[in-house]
Amino acid sequence: MIIDFHAHIFPERIAAKTISLLSEKGGYPAHSDGTVNGLLCEMERAGVDLAVTLPVLTSPHQFDSVNRFAAEVNRAFADKERRLLSFGGIHPACEDIEGKMDYLAECGFLGVKIHPDYQETFIDDEGYLRIVESAKRNDMIVVTHAGPDPAYRDRPVRCTPRRFKELIRAVPHAKLVLAHMGGGGMADEVISELCGEDVYFDTAYVLPFLDAELFRKLLHLHGEDKILFATDSPWSSAKESVNIIRSYSLGRETEEKIFYKNAARLLKG
Ligand SMILES: [Zn+2]
Repeated sequence: MIIDFHAHIFPERIAAKTISLLSEKGGYPAHSDGTVNGLLCEMERAGVDLAVTLPVLTSPHQFDSVNRFAAEVNRAFADKERRLLSFGGIHPACEDIEGKMDYLAECGFLGVKIHPDYQETFIDDEGYLRIVESAKRNDMIVVTHAGPDPAYRDRPVRCTPRRFKELIRAVPHAKLVLAHMGGGGMADEVISELCGEDVYFDTAYVLPFLDAELFRKLLHLHGEDKILFATDSPWSSAKESVNIIRSYSLGRETEEKIFYKNAARLLKG
């Protein structure tokens, strides 16, 4: 069993355009066409059973359309064996954040995705504090992009480990997930500020770039119960990501926790 906790899909009519735009901006190739079927093929190749798809609102006006698509995906895959499970999307500049988060919870979304760089807002901003408070009240998961984003090289990093720590000091919540092992290329700051805190790290995108020793160190310092396997598909190959984790020879128990047990617990709890 493998759960991919961080993947992306786009509606058919905008997938090709969005993928080429993001790919060009970030300077990274895409490993699928960004559609539902593209992701399913990636999952099949890699033996992934369930993928959590994470929509990002780049403007507060996208709230309705993005979450409508996300809800459609959940309806379409509710009883499928190879399953997609979409989280909702929210923006810190949305009006009535509390009402919108309650609405997403009522729609059955288990969590939301936020992206401080795409949303041009620092993670310790009031809007994100309100999102996390509302998530906590509704027992929802919050996944945030963390660390530098290759598409925003010339801008300040909006979710550094230090700033994220400010957020969790203000609103501790046991269902927070930091993408990219807590901060992509900022491993030293992740180690000094976040390792051991009550938050999850996902492995999205970083696996092909992280050396095995650093991965082991993060795993050891943060704890094997708090790491979630994730690919960031289509931005990295699902099969390659699975193979990288296997190549670490972590032992069956640890590998199972990373591949699905931690994720299943978080999604169920
Ligand atoms: Zn992502």
